[in-house]
Amino acid sequence: MLKVNNIDVFYGNIHALKDISLEVIEGEIVTLIGANGAGKSTLLKTLSGLLKPKHGNILYFTQQIAGKPAQTIVKSGISHVPEGRRVFSNMSVEENLELGAYLRNDRDGIKKDMDYVYELFPILDERRKQLSGTLSGGEQQMLAMGRALMAKPKLLLMDEPSMGLAPLVVKKIFEIIKAVNSQGTTVLLVEQNANMALSIADRAYVLETGKIVLSGTAKELQESEQVKAAYLGGL
Ligand code: ATP
Repeated sequence: MLKVNNIDVFYGNIHALKDISLEVIEGEIVTLIGANGAGKSTLLKTLSGLLKPKHGNILYFTQQIAGKPAQTIVKSGISHVPEGRRVFSNMSVEENLELGAYLRNDRDGIKKDMDYVYELFPILDERRKQLSGTLSGGEQQMLAMGRALMAKPKLLLMDEPSMGLAPLVVKKIFEIIKAVNSQGTTVLLVEQNANMALSIADRAYVLETGKIVLSGTAKELQESEQVKAAYLGGL
């Protein structure tokens, strides 16, 4: 469903993504792992229209999306859960979720998806009226994910959902990513927590200083000596 072909992305003179090519097939969970500053967030921002590649192209189904406005990309079915959550803190849980559906006008569908999000995250249901800024880190991550799901994405881009969260909360979030995927949403997951990411992914890419240095099935990467040494704590 998504083919990234030879993209280069710059911030001024900084060459952040160097000749990146990758593919996501409908139904998969694909993970992109790499250290701080490798370019993972830059890639997701490019896919969701926040950055424009200097060279290369991005094919989403039959559509070229590189450099298209973010709104057009969301409308076509790609939704981004940004790093650090970024919920609207002065708005309630419910208002944040409603905002996720702002490009839709199918009232019945929106209501159905809101129920689905509350079913996935019962804690958000309990906190409907609470200001989002007062939620815990884990709850905010759930809300950010719920808000992205309210756009009814075909492809969900997730930027480091495990960041700063306790292991049990991370486990819960990853179970929900699996559940959302099994309901038909394709997932591209960016993570520093390679162990967790590889445990739920079908395939993976390893990014180092803006370049893809390895790719394969999640199982192949879990067994790779190079990955074990650099990303799995030498286990
Ligand atoms: P992390 O896991 O720390 O978020 P990352 O793999 O997501 O890292 P990016 O945020 O994509 O990495 O950054 C890739 C490179 O681009 C880094 O060298 C970073 O300093 C640089 N960079 C990111 N954003 C900007 C910006 N707005 N202006 C200039 N350079 C930037």
